Amino acid sequence: MSGRDRLVDLAAERGMAHSQMQDVLHRTALRLIVPHLDDIAAWDRARQTSITDTAIAELSDSLPQVVALALDGWPSASKAVVEEMRVVEAHRCWRAGGSRADVAAVLGIPADRLIRQLKSGESELLPHRLTSCDLRKRYGWTPSAIGMYRRKGVLPPPDGRDGSRDWWWEPAIEAWERESALHWCGFCHHAFISPIGLRAHRTRVHD
Ligand SMILES: [Zn+2]
Repeated sequence: MSGRDRLVDLAAERGMAHSQMQDVLHRTALRLIVPHLDDIAAWDRARQTSITDTAIAELSDSLPQVVALALDGWPSASKAVVEEMRVVEAHRCWRAGGSRADVAAVLGIPADRLIRQLKSGESELLPHRLTSCDLRKRYGWTPSAIGMYRRKGVLPPPDGRDGSRDWWWEPAIEAWERESALHWCGFCHHAFISPIGLRAHRTRVHD
């Protein structure tokens, strides 16, 4: 672990739940101070000369969070950590198929704000989820076409439901698209499942 490690990355890498992460932090962060007990006075002086916690941590082979914890104490130093853990937990919730309202609740913000931020691109949750509406735009399908593809099982079943909207993981749709070898109309960018469908469409619409 280097001074540059971010808690958010560590938590994501280890797939830790919020409560678990908090527990580990409480235990290990305090333990991590122990080898630096003799350094703390020097850390304090360094900080008074405007050296950053990151730089101090790197010199002592520690973490900036540990420096902050040693100098500011628990829990004031933990506020940023708690914020980071909320973000980690929000991503975990999203990947586990939680609704946007669930994710917003984890982040402690109103659901409509999160929905707005996701639409505007201010917030991003990965992988992306695609709704029927997104699929229609992507493939140029009408509502009746997508309804039929869903009923006939041409499309994979949705990966989840958020309120009244079914959704699919974008990577799952991309994999389906690669396997399906869709037939695209070169004139209007509509995708067809079969060459017969494409031929009928060209005759009807473009000839
Ligand atoms: Zn066309």
